[in-house]
Amino acid sequence: MIMILTITLNPSMDFIYSVDDFVLGANNRTNLPVKMPGGKGINCTRALMYLKADVLAYTVLGGENGNAIRKYLENENMPLISKKISENSRNSYTIMHNGGIQTEIVENGPKISKLESNEIIDDIINIVNGEERINIVTVNGSINNDNDFYYVSLLTALRENVSRKLVIIMDQSKKSLNNIVNNSVYSPDFIKPNEVEFAELFNMNSEEISKESIISKLTETKSKIPNILVSLGGNGAIAKFSGNIYEVSIPSIKVVNPTGSGDSTVAGVASAIARNYNDKDIIRYAMACGMANTLEEGVGVLSLDNVENLFEQIEVTLVSEEIKK
Ligand code: ADP
Repeated sequence: MIMILTITLNPSMDFIYSVDDFVLGANNRTNLPVKMPGGKGINCTRALMYLKADVLAYTVLGGENGNAIRKYLENENMPLISKKISENSRNSYTIMHNGGIQTEIVENGPKISKLESNEIIDDIINIVNGEERINIVTVNGSINNDNDFYYVSLLTALRENVSRKLVIIMDQSKKSLNNIVNNSVYSPDFIKPNEVEFAELFNMNSEEISKESIISKLTETKSKIPNILVSLGGNGAIAKFSGNIYEVSIPSIKVVNPTGSGDSTVAGVASAIARNYNDKDIIRYAMACGMANTLEEGVGVLSLDNVENLFEQIEVTLVSEEIKK
């Protein structure tokens, strides 16, 4: 069985509070929060566990918060390798209020020193080289180390130091994403920008974003990344896989909590690749997983029945085919 390694370099302990009427500048009383470990790769790993994939999570933990996160992950039976870092892991607070509004306070997280950053890359290479079943690596989220080229270095290290061909899935944003997309030497196999990230990448403002403009940017782009899925929340997606451009239509559903749906989409991609699905079915499965997550309270939680039902309802239409020279 193919094994998937997820990488989370800024995990958090997430506190989710519910307040009926949240008032700024006032004392808002509430019950105990729902508390669960998060961070994009942790959410993605959880989703992969629900999908019954063979998954291993690599993360970094420090201080008291790091210990608490580890304990919670052990309770979830998440297969985990963690590196100890010197600073305390972060907390992240979500307030659900006034009929579904979501307000978040997200700590930047512990600073990862240069030495630790280098050790992390060594760790990951050692893990991948030590476990030959790992054929898919998902690199999820940010690292707090002031180096916008860090993920390019990780990508380079994976391509140059692992002898077998890995499928590398990267889910970053802002400058890190930009540097990955514009790197001329090595590319990941897959990225999944959302609407905002795609707009940033192509210097578009939000009014310019439409399915048509995304199709035209994906057609023009010289990026060497073979598979790009631009997820558009409730509006489906546009995808470019192996030079072919697809439009994805999804049924409308009653969203409970959309947090972690992008991470579940990435889990769907990894799991579908591990199952050897064709391009169209990878896209359908990814979307079904993102959608199934929105139907649950929990982050990175999904039901296999929902995934299977939604999969059948998602339509992937070829918009334009690769022009072969
Ligand atoms: P991110 O969570 O990374 O910001 P999106 O908001 O595009 O990304 O959501 C990821 C996926 O989750 C979507 O592609 C879709 O499958 C699902 N999803 C998110 N919001 C909705 C919604 N309102 N209705 C249906 N599906 C949704």
